Amino acid sequence: MADEQPGLFGELNPPPAIIPSAPPYKSGTPFLPGLKAGEGYPDIKDCQELQAMARGCQRCILRSTCRQVVFGTGSLECGIMFVGEGPGKDEDEQGVPFVGRAGQLLDKILTAAEFDRPEVYITNVVKCRPPGNRLPNPDEVKACRVYLEAQIRLLQPRLIVCLGSAATQAIIDPKARISQVRGRWFARAGIRIMATYHPAALLRNPDYKRPVWEDFKLIRDEYRGTGGQSSAKE
Ligand code: SF4
Repeated sequence: MADEQPGLFGELNPPPAIIPSAPPYKSGTPFLPGLKAGEGYPDIKDCQELQAMARGCQRCILRSTCRQVVFGTGSLECGIMFVGEGPGKDEDEQGVPFVGRAGQLLDKILTAAEFDRPEVYITNVVKCRPPGNRLPNPDEVKACRVYLEAQIRLLQPRLIVCLGSAATQAIIDPKARISQVRGRWFARAGIRIMATYHPAALLRNPDYKRPVWEDFKLIRDEYRGTGGQSSAKE
């Protein structure tokens, strides 16, 4: 089968040149669904400053139980942003997103799709660890989305990849079900968005391996500009 993967996901042919990102998003309208203009997302153009603001945040209860705020890592100019749900125990300890078992799996998937982890940007919907690694609740997502909105405005990615249902609902549609929307391109304000299963879900259910790989091939091709015409929906 073409594009079949040895090892975890396979070795791909040498990639074509990556097309540099174009700044797509300049609207004053909030990008995230449900976020109203003036709801308080910080209009900060400096990532360090934004990160410092998040470090001092106490907008929700998660800050009272986590060790530290896990803001995001990677290239600010790469044009692609991966968004997970929230930090887990390892991330809370190290202050870096996706470094536990799920993060190690994400690294392997990124490598198989010929992304360099330091060259993509990775963050979460909520920046503080939900106790016991539970999903963030709607109030916590609502409180923290101002930082995600600010990150999107600052990075202006061409592509956003939602890893798991919390990111899918925060970014694509609060009513979206990941099993129904994954693997499809959506577009909003010039940014193309795709949802796929969270690597932690992949660890629990190996049946997700195939669809995740299919999604990452589409993401890889779109990032390189070789994905052709897609049926993205505004
Ligand atoms: S999860 Fe987000 S909103 Fe809540 S305290 Fe942490 S940074 Fe602030």
